[in-house]
Amino acid sequence: MLPPEPPEPADTPTALVECVICRAPGRAEALVDGECRACREGRGTSASVPGRAALPPELVRALAAEARAAARVPTPHR
Ligand SMILES: [Zn+2]
Repeated sequence: MLPPEPPEPADTPTALVECVICRAPGRAEALVDGECRACREGRGTSASVPGRAALPPELVRALAAEARAAARVPTPHR
């Protein structure tokens, strides 16, 4: 008698993998180097990267300069 064949996952036509950064599930061919498209473009899609895209660095710098000017902090040198 032949041994029973191992059951094949019939409902997974393509391999599903997780993005190494945001762990979002995706098809293997959609994840380049294990990263999903969003992470490759520099923005995560899940909460594993909280507040990453909240404020652009230029804006943070501008706000800091504004706050410093408003507080009239004297520069230590000159
Ligand atoms: Zn991702």
